[in-house]
Amino acid sequence: MRPADADLLLDAARRATRYLAGLDERPVAPRQTERLAEFDEPLPSGPSDAVLTLSKLDDVGSPATMGSAGGRFFGFVIGGALPVALAANWLAGAWDQNSALFNVTPVPAQLEMVSLRWMRELLHLPSALAGAFVTGATMANFTALAAARHAVLKRAGWDVEADGLFGAPPICVVVGAEVHPTLLKALGMLGLGRNRVVRLPVDAQGRIRADALPALSGPCIVCLQAGNIHSGAFDPFVPLCEWAHAAGAWVHVDGAFGLWAAASAATAHLTVGMCEADSWAADAHKVLNIPYDCGVVMVRDEGALRCAMSVSASYLPTVSVHRNPADYAPELSRRGRGIEVWAALRSLGRSGVEALVDRLCRHTRRFAQALAAHGFEVLNEVVFNQCAVSVGNVQDTQRVVAAIVADGTCWVGSSSWQDRPCVRISVCSWATTDADVERSIEAIVRATALLHHTH
Ligand SMILES: *Cc1c(COP(=O)(O)O)cnc(C)c1O
Repeated sequence: MRPADADLLLDAARRATRYLAGLDERPVAPRQTERLAEFDEPLPSGPSDAVLTLSKLDDVGSPATMGSAGGRFFGFVIGGALPVALAANWLAGAWDQNSALFNVTPVPAQLEMVSLRWMRELLHLPSALAGAFVTGATMANFTALAAARHAVLKRAGWDVEADGLFGAPPICVVVGAEVHPTLLKALGMLGLGRNRVVRLPVDAQGRIRADALPALSGPCIVCLQAGNIHSGAFDPFVPLCEWAHAAGAWVHVDGAFGLWAAASAATAHLTVGMCEADSWAADAHKVLNIPYDCGVVMVRDEGALRCAMSVSASYLPTVSVHRNPADYAPELSRRGRGIEVWAALRSLGRSGVEALVDRLCRHTRRFAQALAAHGFEVLNEVVFNQCAVSVGNVQDTQRVVAAIVADGTCWVGSSSWQDRPCVRISVCSWATTDADVERSIEAIVRATALLHHTH
């Protein structure tokens, strides 16, 4: 490597660490976004200085980022990045491994295998399990549902990978009324239809009601949820798995952030029976705080996942005694996402992951308790890391959220849940401290008071 290239990489590391160190002082929301127009130059006709390219990226880009890597971002369900995971990400970036086949790039293949085993142990999932690392829960849902589609149609005598869905026996797909939209998107991508689903009624926390279950027959896929994005609630897995399996259905769990509840003694009760499912989707870029992007899919029936995903060609050294990631994931070439997961799990250990989960839950309870004490109505039972707070009607909610974001101390989003407008507070970052929570509570109270003043 040329000395200039080494300097460039060290410059990037310096800029990145300066950026992270500055997050605590700057407003959370993007600033100077008008400067983004500076990126919109004509395509350069020839080479230019790499150092200047990096400095432009930093000067224009860094202020305009969302400060979600810091401790006071509570929007959507967005984790930060554990330093060890980010460091592993940098090293893995330098390795630039294709990560499809063990015989070509053994390091990511091995670390994915180890990470999958550790996750299965941590989350108390069955010991015989296959899985893959994908971009996020959307693709984890997609991959698991592809395996499900294979299995239920195979039992009906149909080879869906070979023959497609035209003329195939219909599959009944069941979801809860508060299913995540990306699960429906995954169904759409699989030819199963976003709307062609049976929606089961849910209770006041968004959990599927186990007392109102229809009869199932024929090829069937039942999609359950671990972690509702408004309430954090978990479907009652024990009766739902029993009901679905009695009819021979495949049970899938979308546990994008909620699957991690199984890693803590304090929240494991929420996941009772979850291990009875046939497939699970989780994000690692949410609760585990791996840098974007990283999701995990796990499937009980290894054969079904392989039939849905495997690939071979004369030019690919696919024959191996080892697990080839490309046989389990939608992609062939891909980055080795298990590398950062390995680094995070190795450095946190069981108790570290448990402490992380517990901390997110404790911060969320503190938000709920403090805001209730200030007279806000908390709409959900706070069981995990989600808190939905009412601040009035839709206009009030939008004004309050805009005022909170403009104040800059923290960032929250607005939503509407079970016909109630709400502010969503979602605690997902390892970086959030007790002081961050207190500062943010004050900011939310301040912004709301200001608004009522100007009414
Ligand atoms: C975030 C989320 C998803 C989608 O995950 P991505 O990582 O954004 O693809 C799916 N389901 C649930 C419950 C989620 O919270």
